[in-house]
Amino acid sequence: MLSTIGRAAKASGMTAPAPKPWIDAIAPYVPGRSAIDGGGKAIKLSSNESPLGTSPAAVAAFEAADRSLHRYPDASAAALREAIAAKYGLDPARVIYGTGSDEILHLAAGAFAGPGDEVLFVRYGFSVYPIAARRVGAEPVEAPDADYATDVDALLAAVTPNTRVVFVANPNNPTGTYTDRRELARLHAGLPGDVMLVVDQAYAEYLGQADDDGAFALAQVADNVLVTRTFSKIHGLAAERIGWGYGPAAAIAAMHKIRAPFNVTTAGQEAAIAALGDDGFVEASRAHNDKWRTWFEGEIAALAPQGLRAVPSKANFILVLFEGRVSAEQAYLALMERGYIVRWLPGQGLPHGLRITIGTEEEMRGLTPALRAIVGAGA
Ligand SMILES: *Cc1c(COP(=O)(O)O)cnc(C)c1O
Repeated sequence: MLSTIGRAAKASGMTAPAPKPWIDAIAPYVPGRSAIDGGGKAIKLSSNESPLGTSPAAVAAFEAADRSLHRYPDASAAALREAIAAKYGLDPARVIYGTGSDEILHLAAGAFAGPGDEVLFVRYGFSVYPIAARRVGAEPVEAPDADYATDVDALLAAVTPNTRVVFVANPNNPTGTYTDRRELARLHAGLPGDVMLVVDQAYAEYLGQADDDGAFALAQVADNVLVTRTFSKIHGLAAERIGWGYGPAAAIAAMHKIRAPFNVTTAGQEAAIAALGDDGFVEASRAHNDKWRTWFEGEIAALAPQGLRAVPSKANFILVLFEGRVSAEQAYLALMERGYIVRWLPGQGLPHGLRITIGTEEEMRGLTPALRAIVGAGA
């Protein structure tokens, strides 16, 4: 027997649960490809993963982790928070952890924005931001860039009384561009106090010491600054999905309320703690990245006559723009045929760009002549 409401719904043709309209409006996240059509051997430079793998200490801690698989992990991630706080000089009570920093970004949107609100970020920002906004019914708003970089004036000009959250990735993905300390401070100073500024530092460990963007210092004293970090990139723990955030106590408390319980695994917590202790691995990764990013930038600069241009990057990847005869799509497909998977980004307004992760020496020395040949510069 159908209820009265059931009969009415059936009569009107509503026979399946309807996703909320703001969920329907989401363009799904597109991960970097990891396989080639036909299944040939592929070199994956599409997801900004660590070319040096993972710290051996982190792998050992992962393997030594408690095997009581029937036990839930430490829900408060106490040891991990302590290790993070000790490493960066922070208050452990104000550290929140997530299933990747992606979860922290979603928590920030969920705690501070909802239907009728706006979530602001720069054009060519991280592709999770519009998803995080729509997921909670808020409106994603894009501010114009300045030649692919974050434009603080444009962001400030786009703030309205409905703005609740501003996301800035620093360095930014997929552009690799960096907003310095003065500019970030200017952005913060220009925002109303009730707007949460989220500084997404997924690639911060690739910066030199001189490049501290000041976000942690702001988060220590301001009521509206949240910093996020991840173990997925320089620490090479992407498979375990561990990220964290640091912000004002009240904001962290609100985010904890909507965080999934037991959101970081036991082995993941152990591995992350060990990774934090392996400065040698992080330093070697940064040095490798500096060396091969500089080398690759030089190789791209030599392809200027073919219309190629590298957006200046401080991250572990380079956005290469194709403004000549050979398109980014053609180069993407031809590189794939040669076994190199890079990231083509038409869904992010970059049909003319390829984002290429800095790989091992062998990978970079293999990719570059392939690219030269593809754009007609000879091998
Ligand atoms: C990779 C990335 C993240 C998050 O990755 P997780 O694996 O979820 O920690 C966050 N922000 C930016 C800009 C990224 O590129």
